[in-house]
Amino acid sequence: MSKSNKEVPKLKLNQGWNYAPAPESASHVKLKDKYDLFIGGQFVKPTSGKYFDTINPANEEKIAKVAEANTADVDKAVKAARTAYDKVWKKMPPKERGKYIYRIARLIQERAREFAVIESMDGGKPIKEARDVDVPLVANHFFYYAGWADKLQYAFPNRIPQPLGVAGQIIPWNFPLLMAAWKIAPALACGNTVVLKPAETTPLTALKLAELIQESGLPEGVVNIITGFGETGAAIVNHPGIDKIAFTGSTDVGKIIQKAVAGTNKKVTLELGGKAANIIFDDAPIDQAVEGIINGIYFNQGHVCCAGSRLFVQESVYEEVIQKLKDRIETLIVGDPMDKNTDIGAINSRQQLDNINKYLKIGADEGAEMYQSSCNLPGKGFFCKPTIFTNVAQSSRIAQEEIFGPVLTVQTFRTDDEVIEKANNTPFGLSAGVWTDKGSKIFNLTTKMRAGVVWANTYNKFDPTAPFGGYKESGFGREGGLHGLSAYLKV
Ligand code: NAP
Ligand code: MG
Repeated sequence: MSKSNKEVPKLKLNQGWNYAPAPESASHVKLKDKYDLFIGGQFVKPTSGKYFDTINPANEEKIAKVAEANTADVDKAVKAARTAYDKVWKKMPPKERGKYIYRIARLIQERAREFAVIESMDGGKPIKEARDVDVPLVANHFFYYAGWADKLQYAFPNRIPQPLGVAGQIIPWNFPLLMAAWKIAPALACGNTVVLKPAETTPLTALKLAELIQESGLPEGVVNIITGFGETGAAIVNHPGIDKIAFTGSTDVGKIIQKAVAGTNKKVTLELGGKAANIIFDDAPIDQAVEGIINGIYFNQGHVCCAGSRLFVQESVYEEVIQKLKDRIETLIVGDPMDKNTDIGAINSRQQLDNINKYLKIGADEGAEMYQSSCNLPGKGFFCKPTIFTNVAQSSRIAQEEIFGPVLTVQTFRTDDEVIEKANNTPFGLSAGVWTDKGSKIFNLTTKMRAGVVWANTYNKFDPTAPFGGYKESGFGREGGLHGLSAYLKV
């Protein structure tokens, strides 16, 4: 490997000075001790009488009890959604449907702070992300799809777009409220009704959304939100009254769902795992690229399906890039998600932390070189140091399997063709990033990489107008933008 001769000056950031704590206040947050199921516009007790705890992963303390829905509850929710669909929602003039969706968007903006704080408490993500990324995008999604409600005939010219009926929607824990918005907003705009299940570790913002929906005056049963475990999700998937399944989560569960709906009339979209390549060419603005790589993998603790978890560096700038990455992770602030300075918050659950630690061991056993920031981790809660693996083989498990944590693998390349081949060589195809000064290289790579999204000289940028989705084991169907409408319509 050719080494660059350039001396890389060592960063002095964060040495000798610390940030004073800047905790976000939770005093304005209203949370109940116990949450029931939101069915037919009311909060109702679960048939089984069972509840489970949702905890704060940053301190392992219980936040609230949440109802466990069984098949009888799922049946109630689907029936409520069906009644609302037949009697109210599909008959309502589209312009009126749009008004309700706008109202939800505005109410979210009004309570943005409360939603951001609860998202951070329940899931472990840094408050600055929940506040600046998740919640504004949630409101934007509702605004965007509200606008489409009465314009569907323009989205599909010469067609007669019709809603599908009742949509069953199952979402993961990494962007709990945002995933709920991605699912609910287009479904309602197209005239469908909804039964949504959030992940067991992050149900609270969905339940707060249920309260907000109740206040918005949305007709009863148009949105039903039920909580529970994997079995609750499976009961939604298998319910004969469901017309469409929208699932975001792991590839393993996605495969189970696809088998379960085979031979039925249910329409399906699956948004699954990823293992994105982030590629730095030697002509890239290196400092900017390093920032983008850091954002790409350490954002939200790496709990991002499209995280840039595999870094490919052109050989001539390898030394420089690695040194800068190591210096930069040393300055990342890891700890209390509610502190406004925190860059890396808590891992979502003990189970997920165990999974990440399993991969750290696999990486070491496979002979890769591990580098971690020297930061101290809090004594309680689930935390992981930002980690870089160098000397990684293309075939190694840490370069092939989704880790879903703050762990970056680094490989090198010499030519465009070599990096395209390596980048495409995984079972996934959700996203990728390219850093270069040359537009021609960007076009060459974006056309040859099998990834739903390719960011150029930026990373992890989202917008409700842009479709999102994957190839291969990353799933099928698109969410967001105009494409996101067709997932909820017969055209
Ligand atoms: P997961 O285990 O697949 O869970 C996702 C959801 O499915 C949860 O609500 C889960 O409930 C439920 N579920 C579990 N088993 C089920 C079954 N047999 N039938 C129906 N539903 C079932 O995924 P996760 O660990 O929460 O999320 C991480 C994964 O999501 C990663 O692979 C990530 O890449 C992917 N993801 C993809 C995108 C995308 O847009 N492509 C976006 C975000 C995340 P419980 O929580 O109760 O288990
Ligand atoms: Mg929780």
